Amino acid sequence: MNAVKDPCEIDRARMVEEQLRGRGIAMARVLEAMREVPRHLFVAHQWQDRAYCDEALPSREGQTISQPYMVAVMTQELDVREGMRVLELGTGTGYQTAVLCWMVGASGRVYTIERVASLGELARGRLEAMGISNVHYFIGDGSAGWPEGLWYEDRPVLFDRILVTAGAPQVPEPLIAQLKTGGAMVVPVGDGESQTLRRVVKLAAGRIEESDSLGCRFVPLVGEYGWQAPATAPGH
Ligand code: SAH
Repeated sequence: MNAVKDPCEIDRARMVEEQLRGRGIAMARVLEAMREVPRHLFVAHQWQDRAYCDEALPSREGQTISQPYMVAVMTQELDVREGMRVLELGTGTGYQTAVLCWMVGASGRVYTIERVASLGELARGRLEAMGISNVHYFIGDGSAGWPEGLWYEDRPVLFDRILVTAGAPQVPEPLIAQLKTGGAMVVPVGDGESQTLRRVVKLAAGRIEESDSLGCRFVPLVGEYGWQAPATAPGH
């Protein structure tokens, strides 16, 4: 990503200063990641001139690419560090995935799940074309976490961080089981109309600490531990 001279660099730097730093995003690594990842390459051609505006934009299949500020807030709340193993639900366009990949660096890994196959494939193609390789993809319902969990030899491997980028009716229970002690998850929780960004920290002895921050509006998490079916899910 770094080597390619990019005509949108100035727009992106302005986005970071005005929309992110100007509104209280202070974590240097988050600002740097969002200065680097070319958001215009994650939106359809007709939206490219608005890629660095302060808004969510439509993507395919009635889904959206989140507002830059929301991506920054979630990434900052997640407190992602280099070398971490991060699970993301809702690959969507792959933009947030790219930001996470940048944050964890070459020694870390992102595991991303998308239930709509066409979106997941497109995102994968984009990220591969950008040379981003510290990521594993899965197509299907991610509300129960990474299928079968991760294993090293015969021991389960847990995630340092989990980010859900779709609105859930409650914190999906199986995700807590896939989180390390000391690990954190960020998930929008609410109804189909609006949610609150919830941060869940897994403490020793399986205790959970939860805190809510800002209001948000995501498309629904559809699946076993989310909303039950697309036809009956509130919102769209
Ligand atoms: N982070 C994305 C935006 C995500 S929009 C970006 O930066 O572009 C939410 C995504 O979650 C949608 O693509 C939707 O299809 C997906 N999704 C909804 N329910 C899901 C589930 N149970 N498992 C995996 N993905 C899901």
